[in-house]
Amino acid sequence: MYCCIAECCNTSKNNSKGVKFYYFANNSTHMSWLRDKRIKWINAVVKHTKHPNKWFPSKNTTICSAHFIGNKKSENPLHPSYVPTIFPGEENIKNLDQKIERFERHQHRMQRAGSVKEEKSCKKFRPENIF
Ligand SMILES: [Zn+2]
Repeated sequence: MYCCIAECCNTSKNNSKGVKFYYFANNSTHMSWLRDKRIKWINAVVKHTKHPNKWFPSKNTTICSAHFIGNKKSENPLHPSYVPTIFPGEENIKNLDQKIERFERHQHRMQRAGSVKEEKSCKKFRPENIF
């Protein structure tokens, strides 16, 4: 497997940095969040591919984990590494560090405030608790 980013030389054969290769979400899926994710990934990488004007991922196209913060993708749409953001020639690593810090602080706040699920069930039961 090789990475779809033009200036990235990571392949599954010369894999010294322990990168992983991720497939793009399938275009024919009926799950809208997956289609959404596919579009987000395409928008993020297209200008870094060899043919920015006519590039679309096939079902065999992969991108390596080096383009995700922390060298790993996230399945959480709110996480900064939900989409690839690290590309050759872009000096934005520092910004990304700040981004992930903000995200983690946000997560901590959410945890302290109780999970979203708990909040929902509280609201649901509140009317019965009103005297
Ligand atoms: Zn790559």
